[in-house]
Amino acid sequence: MAHSDTPGFITRFAPSPTGLLHKGHAYSALLAFRAAEAAGGRFLLRIEDIDTTRCRPEFTQAIMEDLGWLGITWPEPVRVQSTHFTNYARALETLKGLGVLYPCFCTRKDIQVEIARSPSAPHGPDGPLYPGTCRQLDKSEQQTRMAAGDAHAWRLNLNAALQITGSDLSWRDESEGLIPATPEELGDVVLARKDTPTSYHLSVVVDDALQGITHVVRGKDLWHATHVHVVLQALLGLPKPHYHHHDLLLDENGQRFAKRNKALTIRAIRESGVSASQLITTLGLG
Ligand code: GLU
Repeated sequence: MAHSDTPGFITRFAPSPTGLLHKGHAYSALLAFRAAEAAGGRFLLRIEDIDTTRCRPEFTQAIMEDLGWLGITWPEPVRVQSTHFTNYARALETLKGLGVLYPCFCTRKDIQVEIARSPSAPHGPDGPLYPGTCRQLDKSEQQTRMAAGDAHAWRLNLNAALQITGSDLSWRDESEGLIPATPEELGDVVLARKDTPTSYHLSVVVDDALQGITHVVRGKDLWHATHVHVVLQALLGLPKPHYHHHDLLLDENGQRFAKRNKALTIRAIRESGVSASQLITTLGLG
């Protein structure tokens, strides 16, 4: 990454404490930490624990221990998303005010049935997209169902959003250059879930802005998400960081590391007697 000309450089590592960190996380965190060091900038740690049913404080503790063992340091206090729901609620209200959200009452089952019924339903990189069922509901039906207490998520009405932002959005990727945004790859994403008053997409965009993040370093698995993030940044009037989507590490079977593979957790590696510098070397970062 060439960023010696960057006036300020603030990056972050933003894990979700749903399990122990694995080698893939170590790689990502080290890349971000070193990029900040090389630029004379700042590296922040952020805990993305909006999913309070799956996230556990003991995993947050373990994340900090593992990162410390790798030699990574960060300033306190660490931003913990579950203590900032009001920030995300405010952003959600702004988006509602712009008329770019709609309540979605669909269950997973409803969505599957609708997709099976309409072969022309839109598809994205990870399979079928939300077919837009609740986008068709008129205002009075929305009101009636919400008043009746029907559980609902809030989805982005992408077409309505693009009418406001224009469709010529783009973002700068450190290795790939200027990337035209193609948010239709993900369609009408959920911005507040039925069980959580926000979503990954909304809270990550709000926090990157609130924390003054200038460079987002994260894996290529989040490449498609960036297309949506730039739409949200444009709608909310937030600055747009630069992005570096690094390659994903693969295990010996060519699969992405998963939290469920215990043998590849940083903790298991450490407990097997491997030193941090040995691990860093095996990650190709020695
Ligand atoms: N919390 C996300 C994850 O653990 C990463 C978010 C990001 O870097 O944008 O996959």
